[in-house]
Amino acid sequence: PGKKVLIVYAHQEPKSFNGSLLKIAVEELTKQGCSVTVSDLYAMQFEPRATRNDIVGPLHNSEAFNYGVETWEAYKRGGLSKDLVEEQKKVQEADLLIFQFPLFWFNMPAILKGWMDRVLVQGFAYDLSKAYDGGLLQDKLSLFSFTTGGGQEMYSKESISGDIRYILWPMQHGIMHFCGVKVLEPHICYAPEHASEEKRKEMLTAWTQRLKTLWKEEPIDCSPEWYFK
Ligand code: FAD
Ligand code: ZN
Repeated sequence: PGKKVLIVYAHQEPKSFNGSLLKIAVEELTKQGCSVTVSDLYAMQFEPRATRNDIVGPLHNSEAFNYGVETWEAYKRGGLSKDLVEEQKKVQEADLLIFQFPLFWFNMPAILKGWMDRVLVQGFAYDLSKAYDGGLLQDKLSLFSFTTGGGQEMYSKESISGDIRYILWPMQHGIMHFCGVKVLEPHICYAPEHASEEKRKEMLTAWTQRLKTLWKEEPIDCSPEWYFK
């Protein structure tokens, strides 16, 4: 109780399976006494493109635009665009970040990737000498909750798509761990479109059940071995 959760949600349709997973998380965590904030990226028409519009006022170097340098400088002087500042404030306040999305091309949808690209600015989320365990967003947890089109059998080491953990490497390790955020076990609902109504209900119940004891979970050991061993 009292914990703050930010759910960054990337699905266009509230009636979707992802929409149902979001609804469950909001209801269950609220019931526990957590304060829950949702960034509904499509509904917000969140801008995924990393452009010079993200910087308010004069550029550090207007001769040759460098997005990483410009957003870093803008962050330091309080010159990032309003939508970024708002998202950073939500991240700053959160104890737990949940990302809820359908898998697109072995990755997160572009709108969510754009959120990562634009919100996790140098100086805010990490710094030259402050990355991984030293990242700037320490004492926070993250959880990737996503759905797939392919069945679970497609995502094992021996199968055509390879272990699902390979896909998680850039998201969990390359982004969250890099920024100092601890990572909880991912929550994966395989192939809801091809599942029976009964199986779908089961998957939704499993998410509710997991959320009930979420705060007792230990983060994974987010090292190369977890992904590739
Ligand atoms: P939905 O179609 O919304 O839901 C499935 C069913 O569940 C629907 O019939 C819905 O009505 C029903 N439902 C919703 N709520 C409830 C409820 N409360 N109770 C019971 N039933 C409910 N897949 C891969 O595996 N790998 C990929 O690389 C990949 N790349 C993709 C790239 C793109 C561009 C696209 C568009 C898809 C890709 N996919 C891939 C497939 C994608 O991951 C799946 O289509 C998606 O995860 C399904 O989730 P959904 O929420 O959209 O399902
Ligand atoms: Zn890691």
